[in-house]
Amino acid sequence: MSSTYKFKAETHKVLNILTHSLYTNREIFLRELLSNASDALDKLRFKQNKGESILAPELPLEIKISTDKESNILTVQDTGIGMTKQEMQDNLGIIAKSGSEKFLKDIGDTSCDSGKQKIDPYAEEEIVEKQEGAGADASQIIGRFGIGFYSVFMVADKVEVYSVPAIESVKEESEAKAHVWTSHGSDTFTITPLEEVAGLVRGTMIKIYLKDDAKEFIEEYRLENIIRRHSNFLPFSILLNDKVI
Ligand code: ADP
Ligand code: MG
Repeated sequence: MSSTYKFKAETHKVLNILTHSLYTNREIFLRELLSNASDALDKLRFKQNKGESILAPELPLEIKISTDKESNILTVQDTGIGMTKQEMQDNLGIIAKSGSEKFLKDIGDTSCDSGKQKIDPYAEEEIVEKQEGAGADASQIIGRFGIGFYSVFMVADKVEVYSVPAIESVKEESEAKAHVWTSHGSDTFTITPLEEVAGLVRGTMIKIYLKDDAKEFIEEYRLENIIRRHSNFLPFSILLNDKVI
């Protein structure tokens, strides 16, 4: 039932850079996921305002974060537009080519003056330091080049993205109601059809299996602090373990 797809080579490079080079500012993965959730809710509201019929219109437009300390799984869920199988393949499988090229070129350019033409994904401090010197903070780079989602692999061994699209008309007749996209942040990802997803009526649920050295991100106080500093002005409610932040 599952299909396996190969990441583009460039994606793998970017994943390497993210997981090794921008490592010092790992907490921004949450800002990136919340910004995607907020975008998905915006898209849904736009469609709704245009009069399109959406799934479960009674559901509030909100973002829910929950923590499972026993299994070290952090979940970020939204009731937004969701993704079809094709959208998962297109949007979570390929980093916008121009964006990643520009990103890699920028990093490459800053390395040139030290005589290096190639990117060394393990040269952590050097890259971060040089970008700061050039007036850009490492976390801004991630946002600017549209590779936000992949920053989750700085803290995750494995990520599952469950999604139920909100607009019935965009789905093919034969398509399953829901799909789950799974990756370990390496060369491949899988997409598997599902009949239903427990706890997800509409939108997207991202399950983050935290790395052993990223267990701090299961702590509520830590998450709350990150949300307040990086995602304070999102136009939708954020609930952390059912408490409004
Ligand atoms: P960007 O947000 O700059 O487009 P990202 O890497 O952050 O880049 O996300 C890639 C794409 O994946 C988004 O543009 C969107 O199409 C899709 N996506 C990510 N998260 C969600 C979500 N929660 N709901 C719906 N689509 C999403
Ligand atoms: Mg984004």
